[in-house]
Amino acid sequence: VPELPEVEMVARTLRPRLVGRRIVGVETSGKPLRRPIDRARLRKIAVGATVESVSRTGKYLLVALSSQHTLVAHLGMSGRFVFAQPDVARPPHTHVVLALDDGLELRYVDHRRFGILRAYATERVRQSAEIRILGMDPLEEAFTVEYLRARLRETKRDVKSFLLDQTRIAGVGNIYACEALFLAGIAPRRRTHTLGDARAAKLHGAILQVLRAGIANRGTSFSDYVDAEGTAGENQNTLHVYGREGEPCHVCGRPIRRLVQGARSTFYCAECQR
Ligand SMILES: [Zn+2]
Repeated sequence: VPELPEVEMVARTLRPRLVGRRIVGVETSGKPLRRPIDRARLRKIAVGATVESVSRTGKYLLVALSSQHTLVAHLGMSGRFVFAQPDVARPPHTHVVLALDDGLELRYVDHRRFGILRAYATERVRQSAEIRILGMDPLEEAFTVEYLRARLRETKRDVKSFLLDQTRIAGVGNIYACEALFLAGIAPRRRTHTLGDARAAKLHGAILQVLRAGIANRGTSFSDYVDAEGTAGENQNTLHVYGREGEPCHVCGRPIRRLVQGARSTFYCAECQR
């Protein structure tokens, strides 16, 4: 499942091939993603428009067009963007195709169809249903220790569920939450309001560290994830706890444990995380 580093890699690999290109056609499969795609509206705002920028906030991609509209995309569980020549057969589960003025197609492929592709007037995109609820993106400068400390004090939830809550911090998912808690030495069931200033500062540093490492390693690829060049990431080879149940902790040698929180697996070291 793509998290912040994977979506950032998709943005970085889309940008050089998409910005400045004019969209000359739009096709859709007719099947809904998480919500139905409004094909007529998509055609109206996209065909003839030039791509002005590709950016990311949390796990969302924002593609701004010269038509004063912005496409908001979320990769869901298994979505990916692929550039291809039009004569190359479309892979199964291709749900959206943007034809570009350089002759290439940008295809959105998503076999589980949990993704999102919607269009908003650019001036209203920050108020859209998807974006307005998001908390701070941790790679924004305004994501400070103070911001995190204030959010931690607002709830009494377990810190692992807190990290997954996109309305507090946008972009962290299960893998990077587990890894950040390990690096910070914080037990996943610890209640947020019990974390003091020193531990909040440690968690802040750990979140930045795991996300930056994830980007430096071009994302984590367990199954579906590839960037828009089709390249898989290598961050899965550097993980300390995620997916390592029963394997020895890299620090203390004791077996990594797994527990279920909010229907998601949490991996942790009971010795190193308190
Ligand atoms: Zn350990």
